[in-house]
Amino acid sequence: MNTGIIKTVLLAGALLAGGSSYAQIDIVKDGKSKSKIVLAEKNEINNAAAEIFQDVVYKITGCRLEIKNRGKASDGDILIGGAVSSDISEDGFSISTEGGRLVIAGKDNGTVYGVVTLLEDYLRVDYWGNGEFSLEKSGDISLPLINKTENPAFRYRQTQNYALANDPLYKWWYRIEQPSEVFAANYWVHTFNRLLPDSQYGKEHPEYYAYFDGKRHPGAQWCLTNPEILDIATQKIDSIFKANPGQRIISVSQNDGNNTNCQCPECKKLDDEAGSPSGSLIYFINKLAERFPDKEISTLAYLYTMNPPKNIKPLPNVVVMLCDIDCTREVSLTENASGQYFMKALKGWSDITDNIFVWDYGINFDGYLSPFPNLYIMQDNMRIFRDHNVKMHFSQIASNYGGDFAELRSYIASKLMWNPDRDVDSLIRHFLKSYYHDAADYLYRYINLQQGALWGSGLRLWIYDSPISHKNGMLRPALMERYKDLFDKAEESVADDAVALERVRRTRLPLLYSELEIIRTLPEKDYDDVARKLDYFESEARHFDNPAINERNNRALDYCKLYRERYMPTDEVNLAKGAKVIYITEPTRNYAELGKTALTDGLFGGASYVESWVGWEGKDGSFVIDLGEEKEINSVETDFLHQIGHWVLFPLKVVYSYSTDNKSYTEWDTIEMEEERSNMVLFRSVKAESDAPLKARYIKVDVTGTKVCPSWHYGVGNASWFFIDEVTVK
Ligand SMILES: [Zn+2]
Repeated sequence: MNTGIIKTVLLAGALLAGGSSYAQIDIVKDGKSKSKIVLAEKNEINNAAAEIFQDVVYKITGCRLEIKNRGKASDGDILIGGAVSSDISEDGFSISTEGGRLVIAGKDNGTVYGVVTLLEDYLRVDYWGNGEFSLEKSGDISLPLINKTENPAFRYRQTQNYALANDPLYKWWYRIEQPSEVFAANYWVHTFNRLLPDSQYGKEHPEYYAYFDGKRHPGAQWCLTNPEILDIATQKIDSIFKANPGQRIISVSQNDGNNTNCQCPECKKLDDEAGSPSGSLIYFINKLAERFPDKEISTLAYLYTMNPPKNIKPLPNVVVMLCDIDCTREVSLTENASGQYFMKALKGWSDITDNIFVWDYGINFDGYLSPFPNLYIMQDNMRIFRDHNVKMHFSQIASNYGGDFAELRSYIASKLMWNPDRDVDSLIRHFLKSYYHDAADYLYRYINLQQGALWGSGLRLWIYDSPISHKNGMLRPALMERYKDLFDKAEESVADDAVALERVRRTRLPLLYSELEIIRTLPEKDYDDVARKLDYFESEARHFDNPAINERNNRALDYCKLYRERYMPTDEVNLAKGAKVIYITEPTRNYAELGKTALTDGLFGGASYVESWVGWEGKDGSFVIDLGEEKEINSVETDFLHQIGHWVLFPLKVVYSYSTDNKSYTEWDTIEMEEERSNMVLFRSVKAESDAPLKARYIKVDVTGTKVCPSWHYGVGNASWFFIDEVTVK
């Protein structure tokens, strides 16, 4: 290196800086304050920015800088807020130390984001949430010459992390927003029924709601060509905006659930002309948007409305919220068929609007505690979004406490939403080192080994996966051994570092859970070993606040309890185990094949329905269990699943009969089942019993299903399922 040149350059810099001597500002020196924080004006954003700066400087130096609500910032001071140049966009900021003062100013929330960027990039502070920082204490803080401007790739950025619930600093530090801050009265998605509740209008005005299968369905989507709805919605929205004067965007969007849109002649005509059910939707939303020219109306392009209309463009103040829920996650969106199908829709929408909101799913709804290696594909996807007129982005990643790399996942998502061109690998390394300390290398290897194993397996990564889906892929036995070994070493390496050890143990929960899930599907197992694993998982789950295992808020400790009841051996003999099943009404589609053995294989299903469960859709079910020979029986029991998110409902009624010849049957019992509306995943067993033993070889089970989703369910009018995993005869 030619040091001569460096010296010359430095000298020139010092000369140019002129009056402000060296291009450096001392904030704190030898533990003594050298500057004060001055607000350009007093408002919520500048206050938050100043307090964050003051608090972090205090944590580093023990010195609390004075905050002045107004006044002049002198040489060496810190000026927060004030005018920004025209190249700063929404939430962007500039940081400058030119002229001997530190000036941080932004647009909208930008001033706060400028402060946290300074703290991260120049003072090397990281924030993990719930009060946890990584920083180096020092008596001195001085800043070099800084002159930088940053604008986010997306004007609205939303993601998830458990810390958001109680920690007001988290959203500032991660530069993310919550719908309630931006969307009027938190109308941000699936708002049709909230705006026009079927409980209020359904009886008198069924014509407001979707027509299909020969009738109107109150509670389903709107009949978007009905002019009365436009007027009612306008009045309601007007009053919501008036009550929330600071907010300028509202969502007017379809309820959750597919194929519940209106097919009346008028709506159908618009949709046919548009080549997509988004035709009648955009027709309606444009009319609303015309009535609120200084506001934005957001609507969903989701499930049946995902594809854009051919013949109508959304008005500029219409936000199209496009959801890639049906895509699988093992590779980025351009690299598999489901992603390419979505890309077609995204490209189509980006041809007709530059106001797109993408809701992306880096989440396993059925398995918060399942490994979900998608850290390396988030970047590709966010770049694609940015390059296709996406201005608002929700990266839905769960990140519940105890979930798969919850803290890292939120960190990466937030960094990339700000700037999708960051180096993901170095972000991951930085995070692991700072958060897990000496365990970082082992966890880095775990992440990469698992990522490679997923790709090598050729299996999809899906939002309703279970670890069982990957038991022959990235979670196959040999790899599980490697993962365990890496976590053992990770724990050893931080054995004397209580903070890091807690974090490593918490991060291991998904691996422990996966082991238990996979073992229960194996025909042969060492039950003592299973019991030990279950006990250990239970104690860890208890230690880490009983984390949710899925979107339905089923909890880890309940899972352990059910595991003992459902999957651990009992002394009682199931006479139906291995028995032949003769179907009178076959299960639906691929379940017919699975159903040949699954009802009597002795394996109970879990909360995700990817294994063990046999389903019937839109019809009743009927089958006979053939015990092989005449036996004395005392009871028969059938186990059902309730999973309303997948339109799986408990049936209405179960009738048991028995026979010795499979010709003449005697009715044993009829059991009516109570309706269940819980959001949680539930199991319910339906049992017939006799005090005196009966003689039978054949037991007939007749199940009356709900067949269609009832009016309270968002799939209203569509076919519903019932699922059985096991029949037990004693
Ligand atoms: Zn209609």
